[in-house]
Amino acid sequence: MKRIPHSRPTLGRNEKKAVARVVDSGMLAQGVEVLALEDEMAGMLQRRHAVAVSSGTAALHLALAALGVGPGDRVAMPSYACTALLHAVSLSGAAPLLTDVDPSTFNLDPDDLGRRLTRRVKAVIVPHMFGLPAEIDAIAKWGLPVIEDCAIALGARWRGKPVGNYGTLAVASFYATKMMTTGEGGMVLGDRSRLLETVRDLRSYDHRKTHRLRFNYKMTDLEAALGRVQLGRLDELVRRRRRLARFYLRELADGPWELPPDREEHVYYRFVIRCRSAGRIVSECSRQGIEAARPVFRPLHRYLGQRGFSGAEEAHRRAVSIPLYPTLSRANAGRVVLALRRSRTRRS
Ligand SMILES: *Cc1c(COP(=O)(O)O)cnc(C)c1O
Repeated sequence: MKRIPHSRPTLGRNEKKAVARVVDSGMLAQGVEVLALEDEMAGMLQRRHAVAVSSGTAALHLALAALGVGPGDRVAMPSYACTALLHAVSLSGAAPLLTDVDPSTFNLDPDDLGRRLTRRVKAVIVPHMFGLPAEIDAIAKWGLPVIEDCAIALGARWRGKPVGNYGTLAVASFYATKMMTTGEGGMVLGDRSRLLETVRDLRSYDHRKTHRLRFNYKMTDLEAALGRVQLGRLDELVRRRRRLARFYLRELADGPWELPPDREEHVYYRFVIRCRSAGRIVSECSRQGIEAARPVFRPLHRYLGQRGFSGAEEAHRRAVSIPLYPTLSRANAGRVVLALRRSRTRRS
């Protein structure tokens, strides 16, 4: 039987045509397609400005730089998150202040953040984990600039507005298997002209009157053209993810595991269940030709040799991510369900 991968992008004829159009034009580097993608993304997230960059990590780095974060400062972030957050903060010269997460949502715990805050903390990075919007308002009440990390939640809405509309700045990643893709890519969005002008200035180094440390974080028109097609079908991609999630929620309702929250605002970038016998699920899936992922993340506090963070530890121990992406067929989702049911009876 054919292997079921853990994740894959959804690409079609229109993506192919868009890239071919740029190849035919002979203008591959940042140009009109990038400007158009910036406009269209700003429109979708209802923000005044958008600056496309080469990755989500670059977007985080430039967002921190625009906020004036540097050596001596600290940046708050959840311990259960992509290591890109850690790298971006290190690039800025600041140090991370890790906070715990709620293991039932995997999102940053606003009260834990409040307990750990010091005056040296200059910003907080808030990812919407696995597609479920974090409690931005409870986090914003601590008065810090919020970098809303939409890398794995584009297309989600929260309290009537798209995610990415709430933070002082919002960042996106368009890596191959994210909600929408450009292959590799990212973006910084926001409403304050000064901040976004700084991001635009730092993105490239060429043709400047003065010297300062700048970067080569540009997106290409090849990537942007692909991204524009993906953006046009994002709603459809989200609908397909939700349909599969509803199937899993129904079919897996009575297992010895905890399912992700069944909420309207969840876009199910990943379908991450929590289970005491997480290892057994992964090995049974593997036996059936299904790629399930575990650990989903290694908590950041472990990389830094820190202790505590019981929520992140629990997420690390118990979380298993099962295949969910727009092109996963119902039949294959059924195979995943069967493998999970079988893992209950089988000893490994
Ligand atoms: C993927 C991801 C990033 C980094 O994006 P890249 O484009 O891979 O650099 C940042 N934050 C979160 C939450 C992510 O999932």
